[in-house]
Amino acid sequence: MRILLAEDDPMIGDSLRKGLRDEGFTVDWVQDGRSAERALEATEYALALLDLGLPHKDGLAVLRGWRQRGLTLPVLILTARDAVPDRVKGLDSGADDYLVKPFDLAELLARMRALLRRQSGRARDLIEIGALRIDPAAHTVDYQGEPVSLSVREFALLQALAEAPGVVLSREQLEDRLYGWGEEVESNAIEVHIHNLRRKLNPGVIRTVRGVGYRLGEAP
Ligand code: CA
Repeated sequence: MRILLAEDDPMIGDSLRKGLRDEGFTVDWVQDGRSAERALEATEYALALLDLGLPHKDGLAVLRGWRQRGLTLPVLILTARDAVPDRVKGLDSGADDYLVKPFDLAELLARMRALLRRQSGRARDLIEIGALRIDPAAHTVDYQGEPVSLSVREFALLQALAEAPGVVLSREQLEDRLYGWGEEVESNAIEVHIHNLRRKLNPGVIRTVRGVGYRLGEAP
């Protein structure tokens, strides 16, 4: 799952990026408001983490711009400003939630999961389709009641398909979600992950739609 991180503090940004990557997120990190604005013109993100005090353009102005353009992605504000008026302004400008720094990574992850769940219309964190059971919080997959060990990328790919059952995702769309800026992508990387998922789960779990892409099987 690909997310945008807009944070100008190098220490916070770096540790957040590491922590989120360890959790299987693909993270693009920008350090000023204009780059944050531009990032959303070029790439589709599942969620944005937005610091309010950013150089070049304030986080609030960035957020208002996104909402004016009709972008509906969940936005979680990270702020050192614990003044109530700032938080109110953030929420009124279209933020979905906020955290006051310093915060705990575990709490950030839980709030991110809640926003992503709401966005996808699920009431619970678990994704259950057929014999497949995916727990995004615990990073575990059960198939026919048995735990299956997946790599971080395999997990991310399976989650992307399972969150949109019936939808065909192209190789390019899957690459976009699994790999961030500057990450080397082998030309057959997606095919290799699909091959491994079929081997570890079931050959029918992912269907190839010739010339278009991949989707979850009818009864995975
Ligand atoms: Ca800042």
